[in-house]
Formats: sequence, structure tokens, C-alpha cells
Amino acid sequence: MYKAKAYSVTSATAPFASNTIMRRETTERDVQIEILFCGICHSDLHTVRDEWHSVMPTAYPCVPGHEIVGKVTKVGAAVSRFKPGDLVGVGCLVDSDHTCPNCKTDLEQFCRGAIFTYNSPDKHGTAPVTYGGYSESIVVDEHFVLRVPANLDLAGVAPLLCAGITTYSPIRRWGDIKGKKVGIVGLGGLGHMGVKFARAFGAHVVVFTTSLKKKEDALRLGAHEVILSTDPAQMKQHAGTFNFILDTIAAEHDINAYITMLGLEGNITLVGAPETPLQVSAFALLFGRKSISGSLIGGIKETQEMLDFCGERNITSDVEVIPIQKINEAYERLVKSDVKYRFSIDMASLKTQ
Ligand code: NAP
Ligand code: ZN
Repeated sequence: MYKAKAYSVTSATAPFASNTIMRRETTERDVQIEILFCGICHSDLHTVRDEWHSVMPTAYPCVPGHEIVGKVTKVGAAVSRFKPGDLVGVGCLVDSDHTCPNCKTDLEQFCRGAIFTYNSPDKHGTAPVTYGGYSESIVVDEHFVLRVPANLDLAGVAPLLCAGITTYSPIRRWGDIKGKKVGIVGLGGLGHMGVKFARAFGAHVVVFTTSLKKKEDALRLGAHEVILSTDPAQMKQHAGTFNFILDTIAAEHDINAYITMLGLEGNITLVGAPETPLQVSAFALLFGRKSISGSLIGGIKETQEMLDFCGERNITSDVEVIPIQKINEAYERLVKSDVKYRFSIDMASLKTQ
């Protein structure tokens, strides 16, 4: 084992502070990575503050971070796909059982033995739970390491590892959205990537936002129209007209307002994970044979496909790059939906700690 610098919290109410964690030595199949950038996902905040206690309680100390980009520093003897110096990414998954039907069909995120990048039992016994990317280095099974296209800005690539795949996957799964009316609810980290992908796949993209001041940005990011969701007149005008809506809201909200926006057999897919259950009106679904679904990140194969697509189309996340010392401030802004549109931590700042 070796020591690595990191930032962690010791309770749901404590601020982040610098500390040192242990990382395992590379086993045969492992890749050791020097982390260059790590995005800040709202899931990090939910976890740090133990907002998902009823589903997955947080073990402290907690080192979040699952939007990792870095450089390979060392590989195990059996690693065939990576060598020192390669640019790589790690998302929300670092291991699974490799054998179940979901793993065998490239849906590792649904493996019952899936190990998430942080706050999952650490089967190597390095620590009680896995520690994520707010750290100078990480060691990951090669199957869960992604290749990063060389032409992209690394700070903007990091968020693709979660916000990117989480929006890419349900949009692809829905089918051919070319010419369809697609709504993206919430212009945050996930939402702004949803806009970019929906536009790239040829949809007529409409953003629902509570923040009028984000309108110009939404249009610049690729939206054709923007609806202020707090304005009943604007909402009414679009009722019954959408084919597909992706809901990225991180907090409690009235989902029925968006179900009403769907046309016949329209679908709303939830990717946002509010801490409290949402109330769904049966009638809103019945009239129009509408459906509601959920989606969780994406498998490793699909994540690589998404990264390659981003390389070809020059798609990255719009980021505010911060030193890790600004992390507590960044969390306060994230709660207020005041991020343009993802924080990406420059891990070089950890070296000066
Ligand atoms: P984020 O950057 O904070 O964006 C969420 C956006 O939702 C905000 O920018 C805001 O957009 C809107 N919003 C926030 N509170 C709202 C409220 N009370 N009412 C209406 N709209 C509100 O968060 P994120 O990182 O994109 O994550 C979004 C959610 O997805 C989180 O719950 C996160 O845990 C979850 N997530 C799920 C997966 C998955 O696999 N399913 C993966 C990653 C994250 P406007 O200002 O435009 O209104
Ligand atoms: Zn995430």
C-alpha cells in the first residue's frame, strides 16, 4: 500500500479538509493513475451530506469524485490495454463480479456486485470503503479504465465520465431522436451535456429551467428553445408536444408538470436522484399512454463509445476549473444551481497542499 493525498469529509455536516488515504499496490490487472482533473457531480454532494441515507448510507471519512481523468503511472503484469503515460478516464464504476448476465452484456452498472468508485465496500481491504477522485492517484481494474481521445481538453473531459454517459445512454436508448421534440429538464452538469448530445443526434431540443439567466447559455449550448418552468403560460403553450424528456433535477419537484408536456406515448426518463420520493399522478400517465423510466450511468463499453463520439465531434463539458482548496465554496454554489456548468478540480493544486 502507499499513501496518497486526498480531500475528504468526516461527517455529513463537516467541511472538506485535506488528508492522506491509502491506495493498494497494483495487482496483476490493475492500472495506477495520476489524477489530473476530477469533476464535481451533484451525486458527490448527495453522498457527502448523506442525503441518500435510506438507499445507500455514507461511510465516513468520505472521499468522493467519479469524473476522473489522468495519466497512467504503472500497470500490473497482466494489463494489456494500457501503458504508463496513456491518458485515461475512470467513471462511477471500479469493479463488478465480471460473470453475471448484466456484466456479460456490458451493463456492469446493474451487476449486483458492482463496486462504485467511492462509498462501496472495498474488496481489496485497503480501506472500509472505496475512495474516489478527489485525490492525487487511484488504482483501478483495467476493465473499468477508459481511453480518452487525445484531441479533447482534459478539464472538460472529466465530467463526461459521469454527466456525459448518464445523459448519452438514455438518449441513445430511446431510439432515433432525429427531428423529435426532446426536453431537457434542469440546466446543470447533466442537463448541459443532455443538450449537447440531443442536439448532436438531431433532435429539436428544448430546455426547461428555473433560472431565466441561463437562457442565453442554453441556446449557445445547442437548445432551440428555452422554457421557464416557473411560468405557467410558457408551460401551457408546450403541453402535450414532447416525444421524450430527460429529467435531471437534483431536488424534490412536481414531475407531473413535465409528464403533462409529453404527447401520445411520450416518455420521461429520470436521471436526477432527489432524496425524497416523487409523487406521480396516474392520470397524467394514463391519458396518452405515457411512460416514466429511470436510467443509471452506462456500462463500460457504452462509456467508451460516448468518449469516442465526443472525440469525433469535439464535445466536452463546459467547466469552471477550480483548485481543490476552493471545494467548500464550490459545494455551496452547486446547491444554489450556480455552476457553469460543471466544476472540474485541477488536481495539480493538491501537490501544493
Ligand atoms: P446540478 O449540476 O446541480 O444540476 C441540477 C439542475 O437541476 C440545476 O442546475 C437546476 O437547473 C435544476 N434544479 C435544481 N434544484 C431544482 C428544483 N428544486 N426545482 C427545479 N429544478 C431544480 O446536478 P447534476 O450533477 O447535473 O445532477 C443532477 C441529478 O442527477 C442529481 O440528483 C444527481 O445525483 C443525479 N445523477 C444521477 C445519475 C444517474 O446515473 N442516474 C448520474 C449522475 C448524477 P436550472 O437552474 O436550469 O433550473
Ligand atoms: Zn456523477
